[in-house]
Amino acid sequence: MTQKVLLGDEAVALGAIDAGIHAAYAYPGTPSTEILEYLLAHKQKHNKPFAAWCANEKTSYEEALGVSFAGRRAMVSMKHVGLNVAADPFINSALVTINGGLVVVSADDPGMHSSQNEQDSRYYADFAHIVCLEPANQQEAYEMTREAFDVSERFHIPVMVRIVTRLAHSRSVVNVSEPRAESPLSRADSPASWILLPVNARRQWHKLLETQKDLLDYSERSAYNSLRLSKDNNELGVITTGIAKNYYLENLSELDSEPSHLHIGVYPLPVEKIRKLVSHVKRVLILEEGYPYLERYLRGIIEPAVRIQGKLSGEVPREGELTPDNIRNALDLPPHRGLELSGFALPNRPPRLCTGCPHADSFHAIKGAVDANESVFMASDIGCYSLGALPPYSAIETCVCMGASIGMAKGASDAGLRPAIATIGDSTFLHSGVTALMDCIAADTDMTVIILDNETVGMTGGQPTILPDSRLESVVLGLGAKPEHVYVLSAHPKQNERNAEIIHQEINYNGLSVIITVRECLETLRRKKRDKQAEPAGSELVAV
Ligand code: SF4
Repeated sequence: MTQKVLLGDEAVALGAIDAGIHAAYAYPGTPSTEILEYLLAHKQKHNKPFAAWCANEKTSYEEALGVSFAGRRAMVSMKHVGLNVAADPFINSALVTINGGLVVVSADDPGMHSSQNEQDSRYYADFAHIVCLEPANQQEAYEMTREAFDVSERFHIPVMVRIVTRLAHSRSVVNVSEPRAESPLSRADSPASWILLPVNARRQWHKLLETQKDLLDYSERSAYNSLRLSKDNNELGVITTGIAKNYYLENLSELDSEPSHLHIGVYPLPVEKIRKLVSHVKRVLILEEGYPYLERYLRGIIEPAVRIQGKLSGEVPREGELTPDNIRNALDLPPHRGLELSGFALPNRPPRLCTGCPHADSFHAIKGAVDANESVFMASDIGCYSLGALPPYSAIETCVCMGASIGMAKGASDAGLRPAIATIGDSTFLHSGVTALMDCIAADTDMTVIILDNETVGMTGGQPTILPDSRLESVVLGLGAKPEHVYVLSAHPKQNERNAEIIHQEINYNGLSVIITVRECLETLRRKKRDKQAEPAGSELVAV
């Protein structure tokens, strides 16, 4: 058996490769980005599987569905908030009769290390009535991803693998099994089930509900749902899900006697196992990463005589990540004595744009364009440029979700709050800002859209923008923006004054303007230079 040291994300990716996937799609988003990065690197080396970044999570999902229709295995990965973008095809895909295995990986971010919220993807899996697998470690991330494809094909449903930041971004040794070959092309057996006209959709919905008992049976029997009843502790039962198991096990040796323990790695919830545990104890402590998902369910399942403790009752913190320390209190253990620090204080490092970042120049130009005592509404979006909210720029007022800035500026302008400016990155614009721009163009809204084109998806590590940046202007013009109010400017310090003049002029124009400020992200520029220097001399291709 081969062993590899892998990040949780990489273990998911390798699990998919070894399950014989034909294709994988994604939009970058922390903490899921490294899944597709790994697959792209694999493709470069072995010429498979097909792997591609897409415009957004919705298009990624739809492309993976197409692969599944053609009988081949496909994976789509995203961060938790990306699942909101893909919600439409995701929920509906549970109704079609999945052909090639389809696995959706949703990487949740409890603690909001790099996200707008802490939403818990298990609710989405439950909402869609599908199976969710929740690994506790990198080994399970590998094995469960492999298994997820089999489950998808066995029950003809998409299957979710839910991971969290701490697992996605930590490394461990993983035992790797024999890879499986790709399935051949084969059209879906029941193409009508893929046409969700009401007559078919009703039939498919009935079928999905009928399948639920089989899904529950699979979950009850799964080795990932394991129950150990304690002979000498009838007081406390602990239920863990996903990586919360590790935090519990770290504290176990300090308990006077070992409580009964149910670990859940597969959903739908194994109700029989839960019943067995609660009939054995007086008190149940629930440790789960994310929302009090299980705790809410349990309150409807178990005997009122059994006390339930968890996030809702306050024993476990409702916010942020779990840690071994913050569940000690719930286990009635005294707080850990922390290590005494020997003197030096770590410097405080608030997030900021890299020195010389092109966005900084764009913000200088925008600030220079706005009269000091003028009240301007400035909406912005998700990306490095969100940091324009912080001093010294203090240049944005909103940052809500991918692509929201243009729509929000339009709403503010429609409400009479003018001048209204939206700043948005090139990739975020193509992700979902472009649709709101169509509304603005249709209404010739009095506002200014500034596309901060740094020629990459900067914040997640420099993945390619879905359309080459030279084509952004044509996209904007193709949507119908007035050519005399579309500008392409260089985001360079030398141009700040001239750019400020043009932005000032367009802010004062009574209609829609689109300004594209262009200069490459310094990080990707540096990486390109490094790669070029590393190229062996004379390695250019020569025509023969
Ligand atoms: S990574 Fe690139 S876009 Fe982001 S702050 Fe640094 S230079 Fe700017």
